[in-house]
Amino acid sequence: MFEQIKLPFASDALEPVIDAATVETHHGKHHAAYTKTFNELVEKAGLTGKSAEEILSNLDAVSDLTLRTGLRNQGGGYLNHNIYFEQLRPEAEAKKAPEGALLAQIEKQFGSVDKLKEELNALAASQFGSGWGWLAKKADGTLVTFKSANQDNSYSLGMDDVTPILTLDVWEHAYYLKYRNLRADYLKALWNIIDWSVAEERYK
Ligand code: MN
Repeated sequence: MFEQIKLPFASDALEPVIDAATVETHHGKHHAAYTKTFNELVEKAGLTGKSAEEILSNLDAVSDLTLRTGLRNQGGGYLNHNIYFEQLRPEAEAKKAPEGALLAQIEKQFGSVDKLKEELNALAASQFGSGWGWLAKKADGTLVTFKSANQDNSYSLGMDDVTPILTLDVWEHAYYLKYRNLRADYLKALWNIIDWSVAEERYK
């Protein structure tokens, strides 16, 4: 049984970056629905006991195409939002910059944390329609950035040995109540509530 992560803060705790109504709808409605439906489809497909990563990495094993698409979308919606919400903290609590091995790797590959943020924001801003921007780690410790459509992620896209480090949700439900059409403004502000200590843990 897959469980949606519980938010360790009140729904208004991410203001002014993300308003309470968006947190309540995004986590309480959208993410809750993905989780519920994913659980139903996993049972239907006889995949109970497997991890979400395992299921999404092996979608070809599901012969029923409707069920396969459902697992891809609902499983991605479940997993991607767990990764997204886990990395968010109220502005006063969020660790604003990485340290240690992750910082060293970012500086080596991107020059600076600011350059990485620019690259990720540009990627996420350019995702046509709904989707995600990602920072991920390859098995050899190097970092990779990419974007995905809908609820796809590195697992459903068949990117072997890639682990998500940070993700930027650019579905309109993530920002439209407050930012309307200004996706870039949302992305810029989002960094104020991203907790780099979570990214450091994921990079280890
Ligand atoms: Mn979302």
